[in-house]
Amino acid sequence: MKILVVGGGGREHAIVWKIAQSPKVDKIYCAPGNGGIAELAECVDIAATDIENMVKFAKDNAIDLVMVAPDDPLVLGMVDAMEKEGIRAFGPRANAAIIEGSKAFSKELMKKYNIPTANYEVFTDSTSAIDYIKAQNTFPTVIKADGLALGKGVIIAQNLEEAEQAVHEMIDDGKFGKSGSRVVIEEFLTGPEVSVLAFTDGKTVKPMVSAQDHKRVYDNDKGLNTGGMGTFSPSRLYDDAKAEECMKNIFVPTIKAMSSEGRPFKGVLYFGLMMTANGVKVIEYNCRFGDPETQVVLPRLKTDLVEIMEAVIDERLDEINIEWEDNAAVCVVMASGGYPVSYKKGYEISGLDNVGDLTVFHAGTAVKDGKIVTNGGRVLGVTAVGKDLDEAIKNAYAGVAKISWTDEFHRSDIGIKKY
Ligand code: ATP
Repeated sequence: MKILVVGGGGREHAIVWKIAQSPKVDKIYCAPGNGGIAELAECVDIAATDIENMVKFAKDNAIDLVMVAPDDPLVLGMVDAMEKEGIRAFGPRANAAIIEGSKAFSKELMKKYNIPTANYEVFTDSTSAIDYIKAQNTFPTVIKADGLALGKGVIIAQNLEEAEQAVHEMIDDGKFGKSGSRVVIEEFLTGPEVSVLAFTDGKTVKPMVSAQDHKRVYDNDKGLNTGGMGTFSPSRLYDDAKAEECMKNIFVPTIKAMSSEGRPFKGVLYFGLMMTANGVKVIEYNCRFGDPETQVVLPRLKTDLVEIMEAVIDERLDEINIEWEDNAAVCVVMASGGYPVSYKKGYEISGLDNVGDLTVFHAGTAVKDGKIVTNGGRVLGVTAVGKDLDEAIKNAYAGVAKISWTDEFHRSDIGIKKY
């Protein structure tokens, strides 16, 4: 089989790495790919959102299966465009990817089908939004841009002043363009967050092993929010009872709800969950593999990923037995100094040949004069497995210690908090 993976970050590196283990696969392309992916796949210089050229490439090269990994091409309808040309594609169509593409849509869905989530209201004009916030008079309160905003569209306002500013910036000043012309104002919930990704063909849902992310830039969850500074799997909090509760109250109802709405969801659905005192609630849905959760989930998957993707496309997921290793995985993100604000690129990375049993997923790297150099804020995800989390943490940090470049930094507490 010839497979094309769309995207070029750490998540796509993990997906390509897993696909490369399938005996079904002869050739992998990745567009646009990155310096690490280039070792396993032929990288193609097409932007992940360039639907027209991606379809043309898939047709010209007789691709058997296209795996669309990032959110924006899914929301823009890349899977629909592939299918129209008779190309098999893994991922939700645009009418289902809306579950991530519009928070107003996903909140309405949860309300209509009684899926536990924070209370909310949706607004398109700032005066009504601010009147609502004043009437509620409960802080912190959460203000979310409706559409995709590169992970920056959520503001936790500590007081009325901050809330007013966020509403004005989104609705009146167009800070996030069209994505912020509608806002969701949401009740602030507290509790630890757990991510569960699930394969679904629109009828059957099969959750993957749980994971937890570290979003803040510095140790002990200090500093600014980032795209994720590290992950581990399994979560220490997500036990069998929680898994059962989520299956019954969240996963199955969500899949059924999407089908009832005429928007069957096929692909990977990501459930961002908060363990509150009043049970597990949905914080967000993503319509794809999460980054960097994928980097710790796929190394624990025993079953051939290509077989699973084909079963999803053919709507026979119920026939597949998905098996997982009884172990743990940890991914420590090594980043460029200054991230997430401003940072330099182009530093040569040393130590990559010397990491032993670990897998180093590249997030922001490029090849320059035959050498791997930094090319983004989050540069590498050093991933290790172990018999349990403690062993995986030790192994991952032993790998991190061997790799370096100018101004490199990373968190030193990934997976450590015991709760
Ligand atoms: P991502 O980058 O994860 O895709 P996003 O921009 O889609 O993020 P959300 O995941 O909805 O936004 O929110 C980002 C973060 O804000 C959450 O992980 C959570 O920590 C916090 N958050 C969101 N909603 C709430 C809420 N109702 N109560 C408390 N915290 C919240």
